[in-house]
Amino acid sequence: MKVAILGGGQLARMLAMSAHRLGIEPIVVDPKPDAPATRVAHHVLASLDDPAGWQQVAHCDVATAELDHAPPSALDWLSEHMAVRPGPDAFRLAGDRLREKRLFNELGIETAPFWPVDSEEDLVRGLREIGLPAVLKTRQEGYDGKGQRILRKAADARRAWREVGGVPAVLEGFVPFARELSILAVRSARGELRFWSPVENHHEDGILRSSRPVEIDVEDPIQVAGRRAVAALATALDYVGVLTVEFFEVEGRLVANEMACRVHNSGHWTEEGAETSQFENHLRAITGLRLGGTRTLGPTAMLNLIGARPHRDALLSVPGGRLHLYGKSPAPGRKLGHLTLCADDEERLQHAIHLARDAAAMEART
Ligand code: AMP
Repeated sequence: MKVAILGGGQLARMLAMSAHRLGIEPIVVDPKPDAPATRVAHHVLASLDDPAGWQQVAHCDVATAELDHAPPSALDWLSEHMAVRPGPDAFRLAGDRLREKRLFNELGIETAPFWPVDSEEDLVRGLREIGLPAVLKTRQEGYDGKGQRILRKAADARRAWREVGGVPAVLEGFVPFARELSILAVRSARGELRFWSPVENHHEDGILRSSRPVEIDVEDPIQVAGRRAVAALATALDYVGVLTVEFFEVEGRLVANEMACRVHNSGHWTEEGAETSQFENHLRAITGLRLGGTRTLGPTAMLNLIGARPHRDALLSVPGGRLHLYGKSPAPGRKLGHLTLCADDEERLQHAIHLARDAAAMEART
């Protein structure tokens, strides 16, 4: 069984590592010779929209992608040669914030108020409709807070429009959220849907810093609403694979922010903290294998390692920690790895989180 993965970043790397364990052969397509997944998978060195690259994975059994903005042209071509999971329609949606929000609303999933912006005039009008503060986001290719500007006064419009590059965008109301939650699910080709514990996430400067699963509570209206929203999306898209939706919790309600039609950073804890990881279950789903259990094994958390070269010795001394490095060179704001923490009880986990934060703040010299 051969799986083609569009994109060769850390998500593809972790998928590839899980694939080997299942006896699945991963083949990644990426234009960078040293992309993180290329050391653990066959590598087709090609841009994702290059038909010559598609030809080289035409013999695979199934294709998937590690990025929401995988080019629709590639997915359409591949779907004539093999199963593409999740399907091209899911990527078309997740790669476009405006279409995504419209679908959320059609399915009865609440979003922040939003306004399509194709010009500076649209932006000025949108600000009048939505009010301040507001967030301007590019429709496509934004991630980790890139392609985003917060507007606090009407006079910010011109600069924000220029700073996002004057490309099609969406203006949305700023949500004064109490916390951010993501819901991760996996759906099989037969329509079986399983959920991991909801995850509480902390972002800084638009980048995920840490995640913690919270206990599943079948009666908690917030959790029920989140699972219902994800189930509605997965069914509407006849989705196969791991699906993530990020939400804001505000005044006891859930407001959907965005979806990712792939494995997600807020699910990295599942590698050590759940019965089956998001990577393995994504592969199981897309290759037609039976799904694995999604139960959380105990108190667990995940901390991203961002920007500075991680200090391995310090990180490896954190009790219950498991280090994952992606083989990337340091750069400001770049995700270089993560640390998963598992503990026997809440007190030990809190202690480990405390130590891990200190270790993550240290910079290695080599
Ligand atoms: P995104 O790229 O949409 O996931 O945004 C990255 C992060 O920026 C989110 O996780 C929030 O912490 C923050 N953010 C994005 N949109 C909004 C919003 N409309 N209101 C408040 N915070 C936001």
